[in-house]
Amino acid sequence: MTQPQSTHEVFNQSSELADVDLFAGHRPLQEALQAMAPEVDLAPLHALGRELGSAEVQAQARLANRHPPRLRAYDRGGRRIDEVEFHPAYHALMACAAAHGLQAAPWGRPAGAHVARAAGFLLFNGTEAGVMCPVSMSYAVTPALRASASLYADWGPGLTAPVYDPRPLPGPQKNGLTMGMGMTEKQGGSDLRANTSRAAFDQDTPWGRCYRLTGHKWFFSAPMSDAHLMLAQTAAGPTCFFVPRLLPDGTRNALRIQRLKDKLGNHANASSEIEFDGAAGWLVGEEGRGIAQILEMGTLTRLDCALGSAGLMRQALALALHHCAQRSAFGKKLIEQPLMRNVLADLALEVEGATALVMRLARAVDRSEHAGDAREAVLRRLLTPIGKFWVCKRGSHFAQEAMECLGGNGYVEDDGHGPMARLYREMPLNSIWEGAGNVMALDLLRALRSAGVAEVLRDELECLRGAHRGAERLAAGLTERLAAPQESQARRLARDVALLLQAALLRRQAPEAVFSAFCATRIDAGADVFGQLPEDCDVELLLARAMP
Ligand SMILES: Cc1cc2nc3c(=O)[nH]c(=O)nc-3n(C[C@H](O)[C@H](O)[C@H](O)COP(=O)(O)OP(=O)(O)OC[C@H]3O[C@@H](n4cnc5c(N)ncnc54)[C@H](O)[C@@H]3O)c2cc1C
Repeated sequence: MTQPQSTHEVFNQSSELADVDLFAGHRPLQEALQAMAPEVDLAPLHALGRELGSAEVQAQARLANRHPPRLRAYDRGGRRIDEVEFHPAYHALMACAAAHGLQAAPWGRPAGAHVARAAGFLLFNGTEAGVMCPVSMSYAVTPALRASASLYADWGPGLTAPVYDPRPLPGPQKNGLTMGMGMTEKQGGSDLRANTSRAAFDQDTPWGRCYRLTGHKWFFSAPMSDAHLMLAQTAAGPTCFFVPRLLPDGTRNALRIQRLKDKLGNHANASSEIEFDGAAGWLVGEEGRGIAQILEMGTLTRLDCALGSAGLMRQALALALHHCAQRSAFGKKLIEQPLMRNVLADLALEVEGATALVMRLARAVDRSEHAGDAREAVLRRLLTPIGKFWVCKRGSHFAQEAMECLGGNGYVEDDGHGPMARLYREMPLNSIWEGAGNVMALDLLRALRSAGVAEVLRDELECLRGAHRGAERLAAGLTERLAAPQESQARRLARDVALLLQAALLRRQAPEAVFSAFCATRIDAGADVFGQLPEDCDVELLLARAMP
């Protein structure tokens, strides 16, 4: 009888990329940390990088993605329970993220904590982005929730604890807490004023004014979170409420999960649709000011979207380099073929720019939160829509090219053992949620109306003077465009500001060859398909810096 594989020998297939330190392999990230927050202790990031790169955690990522959560709306006896069951790998990944302080741990820690957390969050996305949704929301909720001192007193300690505690208990009884947000409804997500869910005052309580909420949410990720911030209408307009899953007496709040979404990617994350009829919700902030209140959370989840895309890009690049270093075609390793070298080096350049931009935003968050630095607060307002728009927008294009480096193998999932396909499916999401591309470009126009933005931007770009003719020209033309921006041209403006900021950051913190290659391909020439680095670019250096 023919034995399996007696017909041929298997060779020229690349090995798995496992048991590596994902942080050690990411030089642009290390340089960004050095530039943005030299006080950060790198040892915990190396520990996280080794854990995420281990075969064990890679297997958990695969399992969490291949065994998506399931809704158990009723118990065996027909009683409503609204539980979501996850694979044990999901819980293991959530515990890992919490233990490494990727949730709300930076709040209340010394300066640099948000930058360190951003680096860890970026790395984790390359491993399994699905669990990062509840992690991100649990991080982002703090500034909004602090508006209610009594709620924050009871919930703050559990949110900042580096502990994942999935037990179904009232929040204040748990060792670690997670939170989500409920804004989007069927009739509109970007246009939150169109929300129809409503709230009626019920009673005063130790957590402040309690209302009864009735309505629905069309996207409600992480319904197993201990609580959500949610928008509902009062007579004064959209208002922000704190809605716990379990009430202080241990009974379930009146939130009914209708179904879980069947999504392109992001399979480990339970995104649900819910309805609620008389659910208890506590006022956060002022009645009628709910959109501004909840966007204090949204602005930080936008940071995380940009970090997420940069992390997915880095991991896709690492997989492409690893494969091309082992696979031969036409008599040479792929990584030795001149045209493939050009493609890989161009992808590496994109990661350089993306990493610098998102880490600069993380520093602006850190400095404005810790030191109350007004200039950094202005920069943060500008960089949030820019980073979210540009880095997330580049993600899908990037993932397609990285996948192509693996040829047919890149397109094959093999029950999740082909991680490139997973990264590809995940990529478009960061661009859509928390404000899709147009909404971010329009938010840039709003940011430009804030006091001091134009001056801060000019300062940030000052280092381009005399450094590169094309960049200088583009920067000079900005003054007029910023003074009277056209709505229909907002994407173009967002792209140009993003490219200039990336160039300025690379000028300051990366080798000269990286800066000049970036300007040659992104500013002098239009950034369309990857693999068009001109002859004189230092491909060798770009590849050496990127090897995992
Ligand atoms: C997997 C997943 C999970 C999610 N989880 C949550 C969650 O937990 N909580 C939550 O609240 N939401 C969640 N969302 C919803 C998400 O934030 C929204 O889908 C997103 O903000 C876009 O809103 P929308 O779907 O209503 O699209 P729309 O608002 O209808 O927008 C459609 C398109 O029109 C564009 N557009 C909108 N306004 C303008 C304008 N003025 N000019 C030009 N173009 C415009 C947008 O950029 C977009 O491209 C989730 C979404 C997904 C896909």
